[in-house]
Amino acid sequence: KKLGVCLVGLGNYSENLLAPALQLTQHCELKGVVTGSPNKIPVWQRRYGILDRNIYNYDTMDDIANNPDIDVIYIVLPTGLHSQYAIKAAETGKHVWCEKPMAKTVEECEAIIKACNKNKVKLSIGYRMQHEPNTQTLIKWSHTRPYGKIETVKAEIGFNIQNPGNTWRMDKGLGGGLIYDVGVYSINGIRYTTGSEPISVTALHKNTRPEIFKEVEETTIFTLNFNDGLTASGKTTAAESVNILKADCENGWYQLQPFQSYTGVKGKTSDGQLLDTYIENQQAKQMDDDALSILQNKPIMVPGEEGLKDIAIVEAINESARLGSSVIL
Ligand code: NAD
Repeated sequence: KKLGVCLVGLGNYSENLLAPALQLTQHCELKGVVTGSPNKIPVWQRRYGILDRNIYNYDTMDDIANNPDIDVIYIVLPTGLHSQYAIKAAETGKHVWCEKPMAKTVEECEAIIKACNKNKVKLSIGYRMQHEPNTQTLIKWSHTRPYGKIETVKAEIGFNIQNPGNTWRMDKGLGGGLIYDVGVYSINGIRYTTGSEPISVTALHKNTRPEIFKEVEETTIFTLNFNDGLTASGKTTAAESVNILKADCENGWYQLQPFQSYTGVKGKTSDGQLLDTYIENQQAKQMDDDALSILQNKPIMVPGEEGLKDIAIVEAINESARLGSSVIL
């Protein structure tokens, strides 16, 4: 059986990445949509053959509870709306997939986890990198440590954004801000590369273009400290193009560059190994992995707790930047 997936929010990521990927998946398929834009419905129906009975809006979405075509509700809305709609999704009794970043606050993340537990449904967060094979090598090495003790990790991600335009990503209330949008990749990357949790954080925000970045930060630089003396530096920025995750160890180093990209994630090591396994489509792999976890009742690869831990660090980063001192996690 293929699980029926219902996408909630038909913006860029649903339209250009998830829906096409759902044409490649083996264990799940696109069956329904929830949208507030009626003009999108005929286009989606024509393109993907979605039946009238599987089309919902935000007011009717509760009725998915009675729809046997749909097994999973995938929340692909602006971050500030994730908790409200992920909870609504859990209440229908369907499994919940929720895009990263999981939500704006730890409190909201906890509310999503609680709703999924209460309704006995599974919850996955859309961190596609953890499903990507070269990234999975780094995750494995966090346990096996082939280059000895990991001493420092660096995770930097940024884009040279000249004109962000009119988007929820610039709106604090809707969960905008680089530290949420892409900063979570550096935080998650540091956590899966080290395989451990930081104990404190020091951070600062920089804004060289306050006329553009009115509500949200332009650049954030942070240091995470771990129990065993390991430190990790992170950066997220709208002022320069950068995309690297590197571990410096006792006996060598390894890195992925880019470490966060839809395609072409690749890396190398100090002794000349290449990390360049190819997969056709990350989102298809992610959704198939998550579908199989449900179908075979296996642990979810990236559960709600993963999203929550990153948001706890985002909150600590913002608190540290505000206070100008380090914050204990
Ligand atoms: P987008 O702006 O392209 O789409 C957002 C959608 O939400 C639009 O269809 C919009 O109509 C709808 N919407 C409903 N209520 C809204 C409101 N009050 N304000 C604004 N829009 C509203 O955004 P996107 O790039 O598709 O991102 C959606 C989610 O997917 C975000 O959580 C984002 O972080 C995540 N995302 C993840 C990845 C990934 O690689 N995993 C990539 C891109 C986006």
